[in-house]
Amino acid sequence: MGRHDVIVVGGGVTGLAVTHDLALRGLEPILFEKNDLVSGTSGKFHGLLHSGARYAVSDPEAAYECAIENRILKEIAGHCIENTGGYFVLMDEEEYYDAFKKGCKESQIPIKDVDVDEALKEEPNLNPRINAVVEVQDAVIYAYRFAVSLGLVSKMNGADIRPYNEVVGLISEGKRIVGVKVLDRINNRIYEERGEMTVVAAGPWSGKIAEMAGIQNVRIVLTAGTMAVVPHRLSKRVINKMRAPSDGDIVVPYGSVSIVGTTAYVIEDPDNYAIPPEDTELLMEEGSAIFPAIKKIGFSRMYSSVRPLVSMDEETDTRKISRRYEIYDHEALHDIEGLVTAVGGKLTTARAMAEVIADIVCKKLGVKKTCKTKETKLPNPLEALSFEQLRIKGWPESLIRRIKDRKGTIDEELLAEVLYIAVASSSW
Ligand SMILES: Cc1cc2nc3c(=O)[nH]c(=O)nc-3n(C[C@H](O)[C@H](O)[C@H](O)COP(=O)(O)OP(=O)(O)OC[C@H]3O[C@@H](n4cnc5c(N)ncnc54)[C@H](O)[C@@H]3O)c2cc1C
Repeated sequence: MGRHDVIVVGGGVTGLAVTHDLALRGLEPILFEKNDLVSGTSGKFHGLLHSGARYAVSDPEAAYECAIENRILKEIAGHCIENTGGYFVLMDEEEYYDAFKKGCKESQIPIKDVDVDEALKEEPNLNPRINAVVEVQDAVIYAYRFAVSLGLVSKMNGADIRPYNEVVGLISEGKRIVGVKVLDRINNRIYEERGEMTVVAAGPWSGKIAEMAGIQNVRIVLTAGTMAVVPHRLSKRVINKMRAPSDGDIVVPYGSVSIVGTTAYVIEDPDNYAIPPEDTELLMEEGSAIFPAIKKIGFSRMYSSVRPLVSMDEETDTRKISRRYEIYDHEALHDIEGLVTAVGGKLTTARAMAEVIADIVCKKLGVKKTCKTKETKLPNPLEALSFEQLRIKGWPESLIRRIKDRKGTIDEELLAEVLYIAVASSSW
Protein backbone atom coordinates (compact mmCIF):
# COMPACT_ATOMS: atom_id res chain seq x y z
CA MET A 1 0.00 0.00 0.00
CA GLY A 2 1.34 3.43 -0.98
CA ARG A 3 0.57 6.93 0.25
CA HIS A 4 0.12 9.94 -2.00
CA ASP A 5 -0.84 13.58 -1.55
CA VAL A 6 -3.81 13.32 -3.86
CA ILE A 7 -5.69 10.44 -5.47
CA VAL A 8 -7.36 11.25 -8.80
CA VAL A 9 -10.09 8.93 -10.08
CA GLY A 10 -10.52 8.99 -13.87
CA GLY A 11 -8.07 9.31 -16.76
CA GLY A 12 -10.12 11.57 -19.04
CA VAL A 13 -8.93 15.09 -19.79
CA THR A 14 -10.25 16.42 -16.46
CA GLY A 15 -8.38 13.88 -14.31
CA LEU A 16 -5.21 14.24 -16.38
CA ALA A 17 -5.36 18.04 -16.26
CA VAL A 18 -5.81 17.94 -12.47
CA THR A 19 -2.86 15.54 -12.12
CA HIS A 20 -0.71 17.81 -14.29
CA ASP A 21 -1.67 20.92 -12.32
CA LEU A 22 -0.96 19.27 -8.95
CA ALA A 23 2.35 17.74 -10.08
CA LEU A 24 3.44 21.15 -11.38
CA ARG A 25 2.75 22.62 -7.93
CA GLY A 26 5.13 20.02 -6.44
CA LEU A 27 2.55 17.56 -5.10
CA GLU A 28 2.64 13.80 -5.70
CA PRO A 29 -0.68 12.77 -7.24
CA ILE A 30 -1.64 9.29 -8.36
CA LEU A 31 -4.27 8.78 -11.07
CA PHE A 32 -6.36 5.64 -11.55
CA GLU A 33 -8.11 4.92 -14.85
CA LYS A 34 -10.19 1.77 -15.19
CA ASN A 35 -9.54 1.40 -18.93
CA ASP A 36 -7.14 3.11 -21.34
CA LEU A 37 -6.56 6.87 -20.96
CA VAL A 38 -9.39 8.93 -22.52
CA SER A 39 -11.53 5.84 -23.07
CA GLY A 40 -14.54 7.70 -21.62
CA THR A 41 -16.26 10.80 -23.00
CA SER A 42 -12.94 12.55 -23.76
CA GLY A 43 -12.07 9.97 -26.42
CA LYS A 44 -15.53 10.03 -28.00
CA PHE A 45 -16.30 13.72 -28.26
CA HIS A 46 -16.90 15.97 -31.27
CA GLY A 47 -13.34 17.23 -31.70
CA LEU A 48 -14.08 20.92 -31.30
CA LEU A 49 -11.89 23.43 -29.49
CA HIS A 50 -14.70 25.87 -28.83
CA SER A 51 -14.28 29.54 -29.65
CA GLY A 52 -17.22 30.14 -27.30
CA ALA A 53 -19.48 31.36 -30.11
CA ARG A 54 -21.78 28.34 -29.86
CA TYR A 55 -22.81 29.42 -26.35
CA ALA A 56 -22.69 33.19 -26.90
CA VAL A 57 -26.46 33.65 -26.68
CA SER A 58 -27.66 30.82 -24.45
CA ASP A 59 -24.78 30.38 -21.99
CA PRO A 60 -22.57 33.50 -21.79
CA GLU A 61 -20.59 32.25 -18.78
CA ALA A 62 -19.55 29.06 -20.63
CA ALA A 63 -18.94 31.13 -23.79
CA TYR A 64 -16.53 33.53 -22.11
CA GLU A 65 -14.63 30.68 -20.48
CA CYS A 66 -14.31 28.80 -23.78
CA ALA A 67 -12.97 31.97 -25.46
CA ILE A 68 -10.25 32.35 -22.82
CA GLU A 69 -9.28 28.67 -22.85
CA ASN A 70 -9.27 28.57 -26.66
CA ARG A 71 -6.44 31.12 -26.60
CA ILE A 72 -4.55 29.41 -23.77
CA LEU A 73 -4.68 25.91 -25.30
CA LYS A 74 -3.55 27.17 -28.70
CA GLU A 75 -0.53 28.61 -26.89
CA ILE A 76 0.38 25.65 -24.63
CA ALA A 77 -0.84 22.65 -26.64
CA GLY A 78 -0.28 23.67 -30.27
CA HIS A 79 0.78 20.15 -31.30
CA CYS A 80 -2.66 18.80 -30.28
CA ILE A 81 -4.61 21.42 -32.23
CA GLU A 82 -5.37 22.07 -35.88
CA ASN A 83 -6.11 25.76 -36.06
CA THR A 84 -8.81 25.47 -38.71
CA GLY A 85 -10.95 28.47 -37.80
CA GLY A 86 -14.71 28.19 -38.10
CA TYR A 87 -17.69 29.64 -39.93
CA PHE A 88 -21.16 30.22 -38.50
CA VAL A 89 -23.54 30.10 -41.45
CA LEU A 90 -27.01 31.66 -41.32
CA MET A 91 -29.56 29.42 -43.03
CA ASP A 92 -33.02 29.73 -41.50
CA GLU A 93 -33.26 31.60 -38.24
CA GLU A 94 -32.69 35.17 -39.52
CA GLU A 95 -33.64 36.63 -36.15
CA TYR A 96 -30.72 34.84 -34.45
CA TYR A 97 -28.10 36.86 -36.37
CA ASP A 98 -28.25 40.03 -34.24
CA ALA A 99 -28.47 38.13 -30.95
CA PHE A 100 -25.48 36.02 -32.02
CA LYS A 101 -23.29 39.00 -32.83
CA LYS A 102 -24.32 40.83 -29.66
CA GLY A 103 -23.63 37.72 -27.54
CA CYS A 104 -20.17 37.24 -29.07
CA LYS A 105 -19.31 40.87 -28.41
CA GLU A 106 -20.47 40.67 -24.79
CA SER A 107 -18.46 37.50 -24.15
CA GLN A 108 -15.39 38.98 -25.90
CA ILE A 109 -15.42 36.35 -28.65
CA PRO A 110 -13.60 37.62 -31.76
CA ILE A 111 -15.77 37.45 -34.90
CA LYS A 112 -15.49 38.70 -38.46
CA ASP A 113 -18.17 39.07 -41.16
CA VAL A 114 -17.33 37.16 -44.32
CA ASP A 115 -18.86 37.79 -47.72
CA VAL A 116 -21.06 34.80 -48.69
CA ASP A 117 -19.43 34.41 -52.13
CA GLU A 118 -15.99 34.53 -50.55
CA ALA A 119 -17.03 31.87 -48.00
CA LEU A 120 -18.37 29.62 -50.78
CA LYS A 121 -15.05 29.97 -52.62
CA GLU A 122 -13.20 28.98 -49.45
CA GLU A 123 -15.61 26.13 -48.65
CA PRO A 124 -17.02 24.94 -52.00
CA ASN A 125 -18.90 21.96 -50.49
CA LEU A 126 -21.11 24.26 -48.42
CA ASN A 127 -24.79 24.51 -49.27
CA PRO A 128 -25.03 27.73 -51.36
CA ARG A 129 -28.38 28.50 -49.69
CA ILE A 130 -26.78 30.60 -46.95
CA ASN A 131 -27.62 34.19 -46.10
CA ALA A 132 -24.68 35.34 -43.99
CA VAL A 133 -21.35 34.02 -42.71
CA VAL A 134 -19.41 34.97 -39.59
CA GLU A 135 -15.87 33.74 -38.99
CA VAL A 136 -14.86 32.57 -35.47
CA GLN A 137 -11.77 31.09 -33.84
CA ASP A 138 -13.03 27.50 -33.55
CA ALA A 139 -10.37 24.82 -34.02
CA VAL A 140 -9.95 21.05 -33.90
CA ILE A 141 -8.34 19.42 -30.89
CA TYR A 142 -7.06 15.85 -30.96
CA ALA A 143 -8.01 14.42 -27.57
CA TYR A 144 -5.56 11.53 -27.49
CA ARG A 145 -2.58 13.78 -28.17
CA PHE A 146 -3.78 16.23 -25.52
CA ALA A 147 -4.28 13.46 -22.98
CA VAL A 148 -0.97 11.74 -23.57
CA SER A 149 0.89 15.05 -23.42
CA LEU A 150 -0.81 15.79 -20.08
CA GLY A 151 0.05 12.29 -18.87
CA LEU A 152 3.65 12.52 -20.00
CA VAL A 153 4.33 15.91 -18.40
CA SER A 154 2.63 14.72 -15.19
CA LYS A 155 4.89 11.68 -15.07
CA MET A 156 7.94 13.81 -15.78
CA ASN A 157 6.94 15.93 -12.76
CA GLY A 158 6.60 12.93 -10.45
CA ALA A 159 2.95 11.82 -10.81
CA ASP A 160 1.98 8.17 -10.93
CA ILE A 161 -0.52 7.31 -13.71
CA ARG A 162 -2.16 3.90 -13.72
CA PRO A 163 -4.36 2.89 -16.65
CA TYR A 164 -6.33 -0.36 -16.25
CA ASN A 165 -6.62 0.21 -12.49
CA GLU A 166 -10.22 0.61 -11.41
CA VAL A 167 -11.31 2.23 -8.16
CA VAL A 168 -13.78 -0.24 -6.66
CA GLY A 169 -14.20 1.26 -3.20
CA LEU A 170 -13.41 4.26 -1.02
CA ILE A 171 -11.71 3.77 2.36
CA SER A 172 -13.01 5.95 5.19
CA GLU A 173 -11.93 6.71 8.73
CA GLY A 174 -14.76 8.38 10.59
CA LYS A 175 -16.05 11.18 8.38
CA ARG A 176 -12.93 11.25 6.24
CA ILE A 177 -12.09 9.49 2.95
CA VAL A 178 -8.48 8.35 3.39
CA GLY A 179 -7.91 6.19 0.34
CA VAL A 180 -9.21 3.89 -2.35
CA LYS A 181 -9.51 0.18 -3.05
CA VAL A 182 -8.22 -0.57 -6.53
CA LEU A 183 -8.68 -3.49 -8.91
CA ASP A 184 -5.53 -3.95 -11.00
CA ARG A 185 -7.19 -5.24 -14.17
CA ILE A 186 -3.93 -6.40 -15.75
CA ASN A 187 -2.72 -8.56 -12.86
CA ASN A 188 -6.20 -9.23 -11.47
CA ARG A 189 -5.48 -8.24 -7.87
CA ILE A 190 -7.03 -5.81 -5.42
CA TYR A 191 -4.88 -3.35 -3.47
CA GLU A 192 -5.24 -0.14 -1.46
CA GLU A 193 -3.74 3.34 -1.84
CA ARG A 194 -3.92 6.08 0.76
CA GLY A 195 -4.18 9.79 -0.02
CA GLU A 196 -4.74 13.06 1.83
CA MET A 197 -7.44 14.03 -0.67
CA THR A 198 -9.40 12.19 -3.35
CA VAL A 199 -10.55 13.99 -6.50
CA VAL A 200 -13.33 12.29 -8.45
CA ALA A 201 -12.95 13.15 -12.14
CA ALA A 202 -14.81 10.11 -13.43
CA GLY A 203 -17.05 12.05 -15.83
CA PRO A 204 -20.43 10.35 -16.22
CA TRP A 205 -19.33 7.68 -13.72
CA SER A 206 -18.74 10.25 -10.94
CA GLY A 207 -22.13 9.53 -9.38
CA LYS A 208 -21.15 5.86 -9.04
CA ILE A 209 -17.94 6.82 -7.18
CA ALA A 210 -19.87 9.17 -4.87
CA GLU A 211 -22.22 6.27 -4.08
CA MET A 212 -19.19 4.38 -2.77
CA ALA A 213 -19.02 7.10 -0.07
CA GLY A 214 -22.73 6.69 0.62
CA ILE A 215 -23.64 9.89 -1.27
CA GLN A 216 -26.78 9.25 -3.29
CA ASN A 217 -27.73 12.70 -4.53
CA VAL A 218 -24.81 14.06 -6.57
CA ARG A 219 -26.42 16.60 -8.89
CA ILE A 220 -25.53 15.21 -12.32
CA VAL A 221 -27.72 14.83 -15.41
CA LEU A 222 -26.36 12.17 -17.75
CA THR A 223 -26.98 13.40 -21.30
CA ALA A 224 -25.77 11.24 -24.16
CA GLY A 225 -25.00 12.55 -27.63
CA THR A 226 -24.55 10.84 -30.99
CA MET A 227 -22.05 11.74 -33.70
CA ALA A 228 -21.82 10.46 -37.29
CA VAL A 229 -18.62 10.07 -39.30
CA VAL A 230 -18.51 11.02 -42.99
CA PRO A 231 -15.49 9.28 -44.55
CA HIS A 232 -14.37 12.44 -46.35
CA ARG A 233 -13.06 15.82 -45.24
CA LEU A 234 -15.68 18.26 -46.52
CA SER A 235 -14.22 21.56 -45.32
CA LYS A 236 -11.12 23.33 -44.14
CA ARG A 237 -13.00 24.90 -41.25
CA VAL A 238 -15.44 23.87 -38.56
CA ILE A 239 -18.93 24.74 -39.86
CA ASN A 240 -21.74 25.67 -37.44
CA LYS A 241 -25.33 26.57 -38.21
CA MET A 242 -26.03 30.04 -36.83
CA ARG A 243 -28.95 29.25 -34.59
CA ALA A 244 -29.64 28.38 -30.94
CA PRO A 245 -27.63 25.21 -30.08
CA SER A 246 -29.61 22.18 -31.14
CA ASP A 247 -29.23 18.76 -32.76
CA GLY A 248 -26.98 18.25 -35.76
CA ASP A 249 -25.76 21.79 -36.19
CA ILE A 250 -21.97 21.35 -36.38
CA VAL A 251 -19.65 19.59 -38.83
CA VAL A 252 -16.05 19.24 -37.63
CA PRO A 253 -13.25 18.34 -40.08
CA TYR A 254 -11.26 15.81 -38.03
CA GLY A 255 -8.14 14.59 -39.83
CA SER A 256 -9.30 13.07 -43.09
CA VAL A 257 -12.98 12.71 -42.10
CA SER A 258 -15.87 14.98 -41.08
CA ILE A 259 -17.91 14.50 -37.92
CA VAL A 260 -21.57 15.53 -37.87
CA GLY A 261 -23.08 16.09 -34.45
CA THR A 262 -24.53 15.96 -32.11
CA THR A 263 -27.78 14.99 -30.37
CA ALA A 264 -28.76 15.12 -26.69
CA TYR A 265 -30.91 12.71 -24.69
CA VAL A 266 -31.03 11.90 -20.99
CA ILE A 267 -29.90 8.40 -19.96
CA GLU A 268 -29.71 6.54 -16.65
CA ASP A 269 -26.55 4.44 -16.90
CA PRO A 270 -23.38 5.33 -18.89
CA ASP A 271 -22.56 1.61 -19.18
CA ASN A 272 -25.93 0.62 -20.52
CA TYR A 273 -27.58 2.73 -23.21
CA ALA A 274 -28.02 2.54 -26.97
CA ILE A 275 -27.88 5.08 -29.79
CA PRO A 276 -31.51 5.89 -30.70
CA PRO A 277 -32.13 4.59 -34.25
CA GLU A 278 -33.71 7.92 -35.31
CA ASP A 279 -30.38 9.74 -34.68
CA THR A 280 -28.94 8.50 -37.97
CA GLU A 281 -31.75 10.04 -39.99
CA LEU A 282 -31.73 13.23 -37.94
CA LEU A 283 -27.97 13.76 -38.37
CA MET A 284 -28.25 12.95 -42.08
CA GLU A 285 -31.02 15.56 -42.53
CA GLU A 286 -29.25 18.25 -40.52
CA GLY A 287 -25.75 17.47 -41.80
CA SER A 288 -26.74 17.42 -45.45
CA ALA A 289 -28.45 20.79 -45.02
CA ILE A 290 -24.92 22.12 -44.38
CA PHE A 291 -23.08 19.90 -46.88
CA PRO A 292 -25.46 18.38 -49.49
CA ALA A 293 -22.72 15.89 -50.47
CA ILE A 294 -23.27 14.02 -47.20
CA LYS A 295 -26.44 12.51 -48.70
CA LYS A 296 -24.35 10.92 -51.46
CA ILE A 297 -21.33 9.93 -49.38
CA GLY A 298 -23.26 8.61 -46.35
CA PHE A 299 -21.92 7.81 -42.90
CA SER A 300 -19.20 5.25 -42.29
CA ARG A 301 -20.07 4.90 -38.59
CA MET A 302 -21.86 6.37 -35.61
CA TYR A 303 -20.58 6.74 -32.05
CA SER A 304 -21.79 8.31 -28.85
CA SER A 305 -20.72 9.43 -25.41
CA VAL A 306 -22.19 10.94 -22.27
CA ARG A 307 -22.06 14.46 -20.82
CA PRO A 308 -22.12 14.63 -17.05
CA LEU A 309 -24.00 17.95 -16.89
CA VAL A 310 -24.58 20.02 -13.78
CA SER A 311 -28.16 19.35 -12.71
CA MET A 312 -30.49 22.37 -12.69
CA ASP A 313 -33.54 21.06 -10.87
CA GLU A 314 -36.10 23.13 -12.71
CA GLU A 315 -34.64 22.63 -16.23
CA THR A 316 -35.57 19.56 -18.28
CA ASP A 317 -34.61 20.71 -21.81
CA THR A 318 -31.14 19.13 -22.33
CA ARG A 319 -30.06 22.01 -24.61
CA LYS A 320 -30.86 24.57 -21.92
CA ILE A 321 -28.84 22.89 -19.17
CA SER A 322 -25.66 24.92 -18.78
CA ARG A 323 -22.36 23.54 -20.11
CA ARG A 324 -20.55 25.17 -17.18
CA TYR A 325 -18.81 23.08 -14.55
CA GLU A 326 -19.06 22.78 -10.80
CA ILE A 327 -16.78 21.31 -8.18
CA TYR A 328 -18.68 19.61 -5.37
CA ASP A 329 -16.86 19.82 -2.04
CA HIS A 330 -18.39 16.94 -0.09
CA GLU A 331 -17.21 18.35 3.23
CA ALA A 332 -19.49 21.36 2.81
CA LEU A 333 -22.27 19.42 1.05
CA HIS A 334 -22.38 16.06 2.83
CA ASP A 335 -20.08 16.33 5.85
CA ILE A 336 -17.59 13.95 4.21
CA GLU A 337 -14.00 15.21 4.35
CA GLY A 338 -11.18 14.59 1.87
CA LEU A 339 -13.40 14.19 -1.20
CA VAL A 340 -14.24 16.51 -4.11
CA THR A 341 -16.10 15.73 -7.34
CA ALA A 342 -15.80 17.53 -10.68
CA VAL A 343 -18.99 17.79 -12.76
CA GLY A 344 -19.80 19.30 -16.14
CA GLY A 345 -17.58 21.42 -18.36
CA LYS A 346 -16.12 20.88 -21.81
CA LEU A 347 -12.92 19.35 -23.08
CA THR A 348 -12.05 22.92 -24.07
CA THR A 349 -12.29 24.04 -20.43
CA ALA A 350 -10.56 21.04 -18.79
CA ARG A 351 -7.47 23.08 -17.89
CA ALA A 352 -9.52 25.82 -16.23
CA MET A 353 -11.59 23.27 -14.34
CA ALA A 354 -8.40 21.55 -13.15
CA GLU A 355 -7.04 24.88 -11.90
CA VAL A 356 -10.12 25.40 -9.72
CA ILE A 357 -9.94 21.82 -8.39
CA ALA A 358 -6.21 22.09 -7.65
CA ASP A 359 -6.80 25.42 -5.84
CA ILE A 360 -9.43 23.75 -3.62
CA VAL A 361 -7.18 20.75 -2.94
CA CYS A 362 -4.15 22.93 -2.14
CA LYS A 363 -6.18 25.10 0.20
CA LYS A 364 -7.41 22.05 2.07
CA LEU A 365 -3.88 20.62 2.29
CA GLY A 366 -2.38 23.97 3.33
CA VAL A 367 -0.17 24.07 0.20
CA LYS A 368 0.60 27.63 -0.91
CA LYS A 369 1.65 26.96 -4.52
CA THR A 370 -0.16 28.72 -7.34
CA CYS A 371 -1.26 27.34 -10.72
CA LYS A 372 1.33 27.32 -13.51
CA THR A 373 -0.51 25.43 -16.22
CA LYS A 374 -1.52 28.57 -18.14
CA GLU A 375 2.04 29.33 -19.09
CA THR A 376 3.53 25.81 -19.20
CA LYS A 377 3.81 24.43 -22.72
CA LEU A 378 2.89 20.75 -22.88
CA PRO A 379 5.60 18.50 -24.28
CA ASN A 380 5.01 16.84 -27.62
CA PRO A 381 5.77 13.19 -26.81
CA LEU A 382 7.18 12.72 -30.29
CA GLU A 383 9.78 15.39 -29.60
CA ALA A 384 10.25 14.90 -25.87
CA LEU A 385 11.32 11.29 -26.26
CA SER A 386 14.51 10.58 -28.16
CA PHE A 387 15.16 7.29 -29.89
CA GLU A 388 17.95 6.74 -27.37
CA GLN A 389 15.39 7.00 -24.55
CA LEU A 390 13.18 4.47 -26.32
CA ARG A 391 16.15 2.12 -26.56
CA ILE A 392 17.02 2.56 -22.87
CA LYS A 393 13.38 1.84 -21.98
CA GLY A 394 13.73 -1.50 -23.73
CA TRP A 395 11.81 -0.82 -26.94
CA PRO A 396 12.71 -3.41 -29.59
CA GLU A 397 15.39 -2.24 -32.02
CA SER A 398 13.24 -3.25 -35.01
CA LEU A 399 10.38 -0.99 -33.82
CA ILE A 400 12.72 1.97 -33.30
CA ARG A 401 14.10 1.45 -36.82
CA ARG A 402 10.59 1.44 -38.30
CA ILE A 403 9.70 4.64 -36.47
CA LYS A 404 12.87 6.31 -37.77
CA ASP A 405 12.24 5.10 -41.32
CA ARG A 406 8.75 6.57 -41.42
CA LYS A 407 9.56 9.97 -39.98
CA GLY A 408 8.50 12.63 -42.44
CA THR A 409 6.45 10.22 -44.56
CA ILE A 410 2.70 10.08 -45.08
CA ASP A 411 2.52 7.29 -42.51
CA GLU A 412 3.94 9.46 -39.78
CA GLU A 413 0.54 10.44 -38.40
CA LEU A 414 -0.52 6.84 -37.98
CA LEU A 415 2.77 6.05 -36.43
CA ALA A 416 2.41 8.97 -34.07
CA GLU A 417 -0.85 7.50 -32.77
CA VAL A 418 0.86 4.16 -32.07
CA LEU A 419 3.67 5.93 -30.30
CA TYR A 420 1.19 7.96 -28.27
CA ILE A 421 -0.55 4.79 -27.10
CA ALA A 422 2.77 3.17 -26.24
CA VAL A 423 3.88 6.24 -24.27
CA ALA A 424 0.56 6.37 -22.43
CA SER A 425 0.76 2.77 -21.31
CA SER A 426 4.48 2.59 -20.49
CA SER A 427 6.15 3.71 -17.29
CA TRP A 428 7.79 6.98 -18.27
C1 LIG B 1 -21.52 13.96 -27.51
C2 LIG B 1 -20.50 14.88 -26.90
C3 LIG B 1 -19.75 15.74 -27.69
C4 LIG B 1 -18.84 16.60 -27.10
N1 LIG B 1 -18.09 17.42 -27.89
C5 LIG B 1 -17.23 18.29 -27.34
C6 LIG B 1 -16.44 19.11 -28.15
O1 LIG B 1 -16.49 19.05 -29.37
N2 LIG B 1 -15.60 20.00 -27.55
C7 LIG B 1 -15.50 20.08 -26.18
O2 LIG B 1 -14.73 20.92 -25.71
N3 LIG B 1 -16.21 19.27 -25.38
C8 LIG B 1 -17.06 18.37 -25.92
N4 LIG B 1 -17.79 17.54 -25.13
C9 LIG B 1 -17.58 17.58 -23.68
C10 LIG B 1 -16.29 16.84 -23.31
O3 LIG B 1 -16.13 15.69 -24.09
C11 LIG B 1 -16.31 16.46 -21.83
O4 LIG B 1 -16.58 17.62 -21.06
C12 LIG B 1 -14.98 15.90 -21.35
O5 LIG B 1 -14.48 14.94 -22.24
C13 LIG B 1 -15.15 15.29 -19.98
O6 LIG B 1 -13.92 14.73 -19.60
P1 LIG B 1 -13.81 13.99 -18.21
O7 LIG B 1 -12.38 13.68 -17.99
O8 LIG B 1 -14.47 14.81 -17.16
O9 LIG B 1 -14.68 12.68 -18.38
P2 LIG B 1 -14.29 11.32 -19.15
O10 LIG B 1 -13.52 11.57 -20.36
O11 LIG B 1 -15.54 10.51 -19.28
O12 LIG B 1 -13.31 10.62 -18.14
C14 LIG B 1 -13.75 9.90 -16.99
C15 LIG B 1 -12.87 8.69 -16.88
O13 LIG B 1 -13.11 8.07 -15.62
C16 LIG B 1 -12.90 6.68 -15.80
N5 LIG B 1 -13.53 5.96 -14.70
C17 LIG B 1 -14.85 5.80 -14.46
N6 LIG B 1 -15.04 5.06 -13.35
C18 LIG B 1 -13.80 4.77 -12.88
C19 LIG B 1 -13.34 4.02 -11.76
N7 LIG B 1 -14.19 3.41 -10.90
N8 LIG B 1 -12.00 3.90 -11.57
C20 LIG B 1 -11.12 4.49 -12.42
N9 LIG B 1 -11.52 5.19 -13.52
C21 LIG B 1 -12.84 5.34 -13.72
C22 LIG B 1 -13.56 6.40 -17.16
O14 LIG B 1 -13.10 5.19 -17.72
C23 LIG B 1 -13.16 7.63 -17.94
O15 LIG B 1 -12.00 7.43 -18.73
C24 LIG B 1 -18.68 16.63 -25.69
C25 LIG B 1 -19.42 15.74 -24.89
C26 LIG B 1 -20.31 14.87 -25.49
C27 LIG B 1 -21.08 13.92 -24.65
